[in-house]
Amino acid sequence: MQHIAIQLKDEAGTIALGAALARVLTPGLTLYLHGDLGAGKTALTRALLHAAGYAGHVKSPTYTLVEPYTIALHDHMVEVMHFDLYRMLSADDFLDAGFREYFNSDNICIVEWPEKADGVLPPADLDVFLTLAGDGRKVELVAHSDQGFQCLDQLHFAPNM
Ligand code: ADP
Ligand code: MG
Repeated sequence: MQHIAIQLKDEAGTIALGAALARVLTPGLTLYLHGDLGAGKTALTRALLHAAGYAGHVKSPTYTLVEPYTIALHDHMVEVMHFDLYRMLSADDFLDAGFREYFNSDNICIVEWPEKADGVLPPADLDVFLTLAGDGRKVELVAHSDQGFQCLDQLHFAPNM
């Protein structure tokens, strides 16, 4: 499947989508999260990490730009790198920080504000677009690779509408 559109009527919906995504994650996957401030990019990431078994605090890596988490995926430990590039000044900073090395076949990378690293950011397997819709959110998931297609094929999400 290449494209899925979902309505999330409240934050419980975002948490459910995070959990559904956690069940279809595979090592090496790169997700871009698009949407304005407050759209729910960090909320979705937090829900995903908690559903994947990470018990600690998940905060927005606004100043550090990236925060690593370790989760167990089918009995293998996998690093999830959560980026928030909102405050990154130039794409060169992304290269200078060595961030490209995090994008390998083992890590899962989740990137808020990918636009800030245009031209140097490795491509996404899945694009996630979050927009305000009434009091809730509209989410569009778009796959760009076989790995992304497989995720969407396996995604089971029952909307709470
Ligand atoms: P971003 O990282 O995109 O800037 P955050 O995740 O930090 O946004 O904040 C999202 C805000 O929207 C939080 O206050 C959260 O409670 C709320 N929120 C998340 N999902 C939904 C939803 N489906 N409907 C309504 N509010 C939501
Ligand atoms: Mg955020």
